[in-house]
Amino acid sequence: MDDDDLSDLYQEIILSHNKRPHNEGELDPRSGEAEGYNPLCGDRIRVYVHKTDSGLLDAVTFTGEGCAISRAAASIMTDSVKNLDPAGVEAKIAEALEMLTSKEEPEIDLTVIGDLAALVGVRHFPARIKCATLAWHTLESALKGEGIVSTEEG
Ligand code: ZN
Repeated sequence: MDDDDLSDLYQEIILSHNKRPHNEGELDPRSGEAEGYNPLCGDRIRVYVHKTDSGLLDAVTFTGEGCAISRAAASIMTDSVKNLDPAGVEAKIAEALEMLTSKEEPEIDLTVIGDLAALVGVRHFPARIKCATLAWHTLESALKGEGIVSTEEG
C-alpha cells in the first residue's frame, strides 16, 4: 500500500465516521461531562462519560457541532476508550495525543489501533491537529469532572 492509497483509506474512514458517528447523543445517567471548544476552527463538542462501581468506563458519548475531522475524532475516541479501566483510558489518551502531535512520523500498527490511525493524517495539516485532539482533551476534562452523579460509596 503506498502513501496515496493510505491517505484515501484514512479519508474514507474519517468521512464515514462524520456521516454516521458512533456513540453520538447525551448520556443519562452519567458520571461526568465536559465541553470542549476549538476556536481555531469553531468545533464545539460535549463529552459524556459513565463509569461502573469498579471504575470501568462503560459508556462514552458525545454531542456537538464541528468539522468532519472533529466529529470523526470524537466518534473514534468514544470507540477506542469504551470498556477500558482507568489506567487503560489514561494510556489510550496519552497514546492518541502523542500520535497526533508527535513531530516524528509515528509507527502505526493498523491492527492494534484501528480507526485511530486515520486521524494521524491530520499531522500533515498543522491547522487541523486541534480538531483531532479536541475530543481527547474533552474526554480528559469529563473524567476529571466526576461527581455530577455519584450514587456509589456513600
Ligand atoms: Zn475542526
